[in-house]
Amino acid sequence: MSDTLFSKIIRREIPADIVYEDEDVLAFRDINPQAPQHVLFIPRKPVATLNDLGEDDALLIGRLVLAATAYAKAQGFAENGYRCVINCNGDGGQSVYHLHLHLLGGRRLAWPPG
Ligand code: 5GP
Repeated sequence: MSDTLFSKIIRREIPADIVYEDEDVLAFRDINPQAPQHVLFIPRKPVATLNDLGEDDALLIGRLVLAATAYAKAQGFAENGYRCVINCNGDGGQSVYHLHLHLLGGRRLAWPPG
């Protein structure tokens, strides 16, 4: 996988508002938030898209989701609700090719998405 903006955030080469990290996962606020709470959860492992996950990554993707839900609970908006989104490739609207889960909350979100 080629180097991305998010790899540079992992290596602390560019700044980000990091809100959570553990040995597998890093989370930071989206630079262009679409909701009062908009945090990106990324694996430290460089995986480009959902299509690149293998059987060996089952635990990793689970950790990503659990980190996001734990964050929503800790910040107090889990009960009201939130949305987790992983965009994949062009039709999915992916713009950064390092897998990331968007956690969006803090307001009522519309459905269906555009
Ligand atoms: P995607 O469109 O790939 O699903 O989402 C990429 C997200 O990364 C977008 O919501 C965009 O605002 C965010 N983003 C792009 N560049 C940066 C950056 O340099 N720092 C942070 N914190 N977020 C970024």
